Amino acid sequence: MIKVVKDLEDTPTSLNERKTNRKRDNCIKDAKYHYKKAFDQQYKQQDVKTNLKKIYNEKCAFCEQKIRECKDNNLEDCSQTIEHYRPKGKYYWLAYSWDNLLWCCHRCNQNKDNHFEIDSNQIEYEESFRENIHTSTNNYQELENPKMINPEIESVLDKLSFYDGVIDSNDVRLKYTIKQCGLDRDDLNEARQIIIEDFIEKLIDKKLKNEPLIEDLKELISEFKNQESEFRALRYWISKNYMSLID
Ligand SMILES: [Zn+2]
Repeated sequence: MIKVVKDLEDTPTSLNERKTNRKRDNCIKDAKYHYKKAFDQQYKQQDVKTNLKKIYNEKCAFCEQKIRECKDNNLEDCSQTIEHYRPKGKYYWLAYSWDNLLWCCHRCNQNKDNHFEIDSNQIEYEESFRENIHTSTNNYQELENPKMINPEIESVLDKLSFYDGVIDSNDVRLKYTIKQCGLDRDDLNEARQIIIEDFIEKLIDKKLKNEPLIEDLKELISEFKNQESEFRALRYWISKNYMSLID
């Protein structure tokens, strides 16, 4: 998981078009999200996808793996999904809100499902929310204290560990997020462990030959800084812990 910067002023046009506004009004009027294809389609418009894909560098908000582009809107057969940080069932007025939409892989999305525990009371809809419908939820964080990390708001780099490729944390909220999204699933652990082993092997080899490690470390850090790299949080952790790993 790595912090992602989204320009909340740059809302995709389709989230404000008449058709979307009508669906939003409908949900607000009935105080519930309508689980129907016509309602789902409005947050899956092409401009939303294009924008999110770019902002997230084609990677999942939670597991940081690249996601394949989907050709149609049939999410059942699709590896790429648009995820609502706050579930649209409970927060029906946020179904089409730009600050509530994340780019997320099918596996993390399915695991996360409607899990969204909060430590305080849930925000209830108020008419005034309409004015800033795309930028209001930053204010919710402090009021609700959700357990789920929001990668568009928080940086958790220094709170994660990846021993043997297994993602872990001492932070209660991160533990919750890891568990609910299944970020410690086998295929992810294995993919991360391969990156660790490859890097550590290179370093041990250099160390045995008494060669400097600086070039390999520079390369690792540049991979971490590269927005397009997968598993950037892992690469950051390796750069901070390589000494203990090669011992
Ligand atoms: Zn994922």
